[in-house]
Amino acid sequence: MRLTVVGSSDAFNSLGRSHSSYLLEGDGVGPLMIDFGATSLAALRKIGRNPTELRGIALTHLHGDHVGGFAFLVIDGMYNEVRRHPLAVVGPRLTAERIDTVLRTAYGSLADDARPFEMPIREVEPGGIVEVAGVTIEAFAADHMDPPDCPLCLRISANGKVIAFSGDTRICDGLFAAAEGADLLVAECTALTHPCGRHCAWEDWRALLGPGIPNTSGTAGPEPRARRTIGAKRVLFTHLGRAVRERAADLVNELPGAAIAFAEDGMVVMP
Ligand SMILES: [Zn+2]
Repeated sequence: MRLTVVGSSDAFNSLGRSHSSYLLEGDGVGPLMIDFGATSLAALRKIGRNPTELRGIALTHLHGDHVGGFAFLVIDGMYNEVRRHPLAVVGPRLTAERIDTVLRTAYGSLADDARPFEMPIREVEPGGIVEVAGVTIEAFAADHMDPPDCPLCLRISANGKVIAFSGDTRICDGLFAAAEGADLLVAECTALTHPCGRHCAWEDWRALLGPGIPNTSGTAGPEPRARRTIGAKRVLFTHLGRAVRERAADLVNELPGAAIAFAEDGMVVMP
């Protein structure tokens, strides 16, 4: 499996990067996009790829920087690089409704026009497993939005490799579960410190990945319990806000020996 970082920014396209999204492909795998934000079509073309190549798209959650590009993706397939084969979409609860809203907001009744391609949408709940575009996707609950939205961390397996995607979330049980034993965790790191909304900050990751810092939250007895560990072999930080990206080179030195890196648009990673 090969992972290409299509975009690596936060919601604000900080320092000119595109909204966080990724391309997964390999022998019999994909191409599958993970998330499709407002700037993702431009980002895909910038790396020389074409949306008609895609077999599927998996969505972590339904914020505009992760789903807002569907308006342009759909009209591209209708009128520009005309798409004739299905585009399978997997996402959390409300995905079908939200994509329809995105289309209607951007192009009105065009959402009702006949399309030359099918776009079957499957919604998955935490605990659910779906197969799409040659991969198996397991969904876990993220902590990022209020009900009825149900944001997800995704664990994607194919060809003996596992890549986990945090989506947008605070540190939460679903994130640990998705990352356990993964060859690669693609993890959001929006800010250096809290408060930063329901996102992960560098201070979270430094505490989780650094040496000798026990997690005492929930400690009942006199001994601090063992530090809770992220069970992924490597971590690629993404969804980077301006402050994190500007300091990325220094941050790597704060965790010597840790298998970490910071995403850059166009970067290719072999897990
Ligand atoms: Zn979000």
